[in-house]
This record gives sequence, structure tokens and C-alpha cells, in this order.
Amino acid sequence: MRHIVNSTILAAMTLASTLNCAAQTVGQENAPVDPQIAAALQQISAKQIRADVEKLASFGTRSTLSAQDPASIAAGHGIGAAREWIKSEFERYSKECGGCLEVKTDTFTEAPADRIPKATEITNVYAVLKGTDSESAKRIMLVTGHYDSRNSDTLDVAGDAPGASDDASGTAVSLECARVLSKMKFPGTIIFLTVAGEEQGLNGSRHFAKMAKEQGWKFEAVLNNDIVGGDKNPEQDHATVRVFSEGLPAAATEQEIRRIRAMGGESDSGSRQVARYIAEVGRTYDTGVKPLLVFRTDRYLRGGDHSAFNGEGFSAVRFTEFREDFHHQHQNVRVENGVEYGDLAKFVDFDYVAHVARLNAATLASLASAPAPPGNVHLLVKDLENDSTLTWEASPGAAGYEVLWRVTSSPEWEHVEKVGGVTRVTLKVSKDNVIFAVRSVDREGHRSLAVVPTPER
Ligand SMILES: [Zn+2]
Repeated sequence: MRHIVNSTILAAMTLASTLNCAAQTVGQENAPVDPQIAAALQQISAKQIRADVEKLASFGTRSTLSAQDPASIAAGHGIGAAREWIKSEFERYSKECGGCLEVKTDTFTEAPADRIPKATEITNVYAVLKGTDSESAKRIMLVTGHYDSRNSDTLDVAGDAPGASDDASGTAVSLECARVLSKMKFPGTIIFLTVAGEEQGLNGSRHFAKMAKEQGWKFEAVLNNDIVGGDKNPEQDHATVRVFSEGLPAAATEQEIRRIRAMGGESDSGSRQVARYIAEVGRTYDTGVKPLLVFRTDRYLRGGDHSAFNGEGFSAVRFTEFREDFHHQHQNVRVENGVEYGDLAKFVDFDYVAHVARLNAATLASLASAPAPPGNVHLLVKDLENDSTLTWEASPGAAGYEVLWRVTSSPEWEHVEKVGGVTRVTLKVSKDNVIFAVRSVDREGHRSLAVVPTPER
């Protein structure tokens, strides 16, 4: 059911009737399909993803602590060989698009730590599809997966660790998004990243996120894919992928936490707006998989690379298959009491990984096509009144703006009001009863992330 509230109707609406609409779970209109994005999604190939995952699983182990000397690389064994292969794939895609991708490495030496017995060189490999518009190109969408793997013992550098689902699947999502989206052009920048060191302590992503912060890179959304193999156990839901997002931002200051506490902003972090955006993209495009938004940072006892980005103040979410089979991750390859252990490619559902890659690609492409979110969005709270006035700064490239709102107990936006090219609007809806946000929209209907206002006295 769709529901767009226009100004005339809205002006006549009482608060009671507005809340009544919400109580009936009235949905907002989904973004229109961009035919070019829809065509690109068709290019995402389960066959290619299968080849990627099987290749990554073929290096024996991709333990961050495993071999990376020239002889091992030449022999196709260890993390060094995996790294060189990923780099050559990005370079191949770049060649196919006339050099449109800048393929780079981020290498550093990690000092000894709990899971790193001696100083170890760690390399992240990434490809940059630079935005076509010099101003918009500063806005960066990032997709990432970790190419390192582990078996039962995280310090075992020699034993097999195929890591097909954890996380060759996520690495394949980054690769496949790069292969397909590099054939398109976007005003915003997209970075396709694969990191190492995840299993030793998120070392690769921590280094990359820190470097990005120091260099002033503006990540609008970070999509981390970790364990998206769609394990073929009988209880798997192959039509659903979980999207985890933090509530209270890990990097929030004391002052920000106080404001969140006072206003009930626990479910409106930047990461959560990314999650809601993914849910909307999942309704607009037929990707084959539906996102299940999980409103917590990660699963119990587990962590992932998105947290490293959250720690530096970036909006980042994690995609993970609906149901994990713990016999098939972080386990030595073996059969014990008739149970097959190990993260083998044969347990991966490659169609499922392709569906998840489509959802990622649709999200990256939609955001990179959209205008920047409106700046400095404020909600005026200096007077006691039942109307709500919002102000914001214009976004270059926006044809207009939309104000969104939902009752405070609802997980997703319920109402949208198209307000045109203005930067100030007063609505007959009480700010005391709802949560507002504003987003930018261009002429083709590409929507930015929603920005929740800060109160202004
Ligand atoms: Zn993992």
C-alpha cells in the first residue's frame, strides 16, 4: 500500500488522523527504478561469483599470518597469492573499461598482538571508480569483504582454511560489484575494497578506516559483506539476508549521547539510515533477496569490519546470510562423527551470493547517482507549538527535497512529503510525536540518504 501525503491534504489533517495512518502501517512510495541500474544488475553473474569463490578457496589458506613470499605467490599458496590474484582481477576489469578503475594497495606492518605472534605485513586491495562530477566525486560509497581466512586455530598458518563463505563470498561481492559497475558512470565515487587481518582483529579495516578519516575521505555508506554464502543447510532462508546496523554510534561524543538520550534518537544513527536505504532499494529492485534489518551492531559473540568503520565515525552496516552453519566456519576441514566440518565452496549457494551482490550493487549505484544529502538539517524547537519547522542547506544537484517521518516506535519511515526546491518547511505534525528526516531527490528520482535533524533553539 502506498501513501504520499501532499501539502493540501496534510494541512487539513489533524494529528490524530496522522497517527491513525501510521497505525495502519502505511508505507511510503518506493524510489523509481533506474533502467540503467536495473540493466546492470542483470550482468551480475552467479557463475562468475562461483569462479571467484572457488579460486579464493584454492590458495590452501588465506590466513593473514600465512606465506606471502615470491615463491609461495608463484606456487599459488597463502595470502600473498590471494592478494596478487585479487589485484589482477581488479586490473583486468579496469582494462575492460578503458582504465576507469584506479587499483591500489594499502600495505602496513601490524605490530605483534594477541593473535599476531610477530610483526606482520598486511595488505588491503582496492579499486576506485572515481565520480564523474568533481564535487560529487568527494562523496564515497564503499563495499568491502575480507579476503583472509582461518581454521579452528587462528594462529595456524599452514593448515587448510578455504574460507569459502567466510569470507570469499564477501570478497566476491566486492569483485563482482567492481566488474559490473565499472561499466557505468556515476557522479559519486565508489570504492571496491577487500581487506586482510579481519580474523586477527579487524586489522586491515581498522587501518583503512583510520587512513580514510585522516585523509578526510567522506564515506557516505560502507557496506560490509561477511559470510554471505547462503550455506545450504536445510533451515537456511535463501530469500533473506540480514543487515546489521549500530544504534548508538560507536564514535558518538558524550554531548551527542546526551542528545540521543533526550530525544529518543537511539534508532537513528547514520548506519541505521543506510540500513533503511537498503530496505527501500530492496523494494525498488528485484535482487532475488530481501534485507532483514537487524537493529544491533552484530551477532552475539561476533564482530566484523563494519565496526572498524563505525569506530572512526562512518556509517557502516554488515550483510550476513540468514542462518549460519557453525560447522562450516572457523573449523578445520574434517569429518567427525559423520559431521562434515570446514568452510568449503560446496556449501555455498552461488545464486544467493549473486542476489546479495545485486542488493549491494543497487545500493551503491543508487547512492552514487543521487545528489548529496541536504546539509545542516535542523528542527526548530525554540517555541512550544504543535507545528514542526525544518530547515536545511541546499544540496547541489537536488531538484527538490522530501520530508520523511514515522512514529517514534516504528522501525521504518512511514510518510513522505514532497516539498519541492525549498530549504524550509512547516508541517502540521507535532515533532513531539514523530521522528523527522529530510532527503534530496534529483530529477530522475534518485534519493539521497535521509538526514535526521538536530534540534535548534
Ligand atoms: Zn568473516
